[in-house]
Amino acid sequence: MARQNSEDRSTRWELGTRGIRSGQRRTPEGEQAEPIFTTSSFVFSSAAQAAARFSGEEPGNVYSRFTNPTVRTFEERLAAMEGGERCVATASGMAAILSTCLGLLRSGDHIVAARGIFGSTALLFSNILARFGIETSFVSLTDLSAWASAMRPATRMLFLETPSNPLSEVADITALAELAHAHDARLVVDNTVCTPVLQQPLALGADLVVLSATKYLDGQGRCVGGAVVGDGESMEKVHGFLRTAGPCLSPFNAWVFLKGLETLRVRMQAHCDHALQIARWLEGRSDVQRVYYSGLPCHPQHELAGRQQRGYGGLLAFELAGGQAAAWRFIDGVRMISITANLGDTKTMITHPATTTHGRLAPEDRAAAGIHDGLVRLAVGLEDVADIIADLERGFANL
Ligand SMILES: *Cc1c(COP(=O)(O)O)cnc(C)c1O
Repeated sequence: MARQNSEDRSTRWELGTRGIRSGQRRTPEGEQAEPIFTTSSFVFSSAAQAAARFSGEEPGNVYSRFTNPTVRTFEERLAAMEGGERCVATASGMAAILSTCLGLLRSGDHIVAARGIFGSTALLFSNILARFGIETSFVSLTDLSAWASAMRPATRMLFLETPSNPLSEVADITALAELAHAHDARLVVDNTVCTPVLQQPLALGADLVVLSATKYLDGQGRCVGGAVVGDGESMEKVHGFLRTAGPCLSPFNAWVFLKGLETLRVRMQAHCDHALQIARWLEGRSDVQRVYYSGLPCHPQHELAGRQQRGYGGLLAFELAGGQAAAWRFIDGVRMISITANLGDTKTMITHPATTTHGRLAPEDRAAAGIHDGLVRLAVGLEDVADIIADLERGFANL
């Protein structure tokens, strides 16, 4: 019976197997790998079928802004990996966050969000949603009582990233989910940095997961895309927004991400392994004031990260004495590592948060967020650790 239809087995497979097998439906051609359906529209066998497809009476494809078979395979695979009922793929990570907000919120609703979230997400909340009557309060990610006191009768969404970027602060997802549910609000977790391989927020009580597929899901820096995963009822609303407003994922990008998901588990394990080796090496140096990596026992949420995550991830930061001048000299001293503010790639990347990702914050807000001028962030890639360390040595030599 339909050996190629993997749906019925998805929930019993382990995570790595889901990343390789879930969602695949072979065509009668018997292809081993997933095809790319590069078609904008789909044909019907009769006028009656067209009417039934449009009314939703008969399930099936109509137009690729609504659904597409390659995109659907990516969605079903990612839903299986996150442990959610349904996934909707989007044109970017930001389109995933926008679709979640506009699919589920209305004017007058209130959001409580962690202060250190991704810069564009913070701008979306404070500059764009605010114009449509959706207000956001920003609180410290790790201060549970600050979250509780920010709650209002109109609060419908709590939004966070854990671990945070660049300081790897870790929030207690289960505690924040309980707070959200006590106020009839949803907890939305941006799982871009961990991916479902290292953390499954839905199993910890979160209602929805948003992801930038541009980062680790692709994993090789080729395509921009995103996704939202959650319960069927919420996802119906998110998809309702998406199919009307239009920020859908292209079938080609979905196909690239499908390739990425097949290797996601082994890649994330390697990112974690490399980052831990480099964090330990940095920690042992006298010219480093502090290393921020939740895999180190000195990290304030090391124990929580160990309980909540299956690994500590590929992002770390470290502080140099000598402020911005030292950080810039260090960055200008490396030769192999790419100077870019991106993350989640095979290639190691280095950035100075205070003048790039967090540059638009007022200096006092930046200091309050712990983003000091001597802080350097590394998104550790998959090159040999010896070569990454040799390149970092060049940075130290340039101080
Ligand atoms: C990159 C990123 C986003 C936005 O994703 P895009 O694909 O660039 O739109 C959102 N959240 C986090 C944590 C990110 O790193």
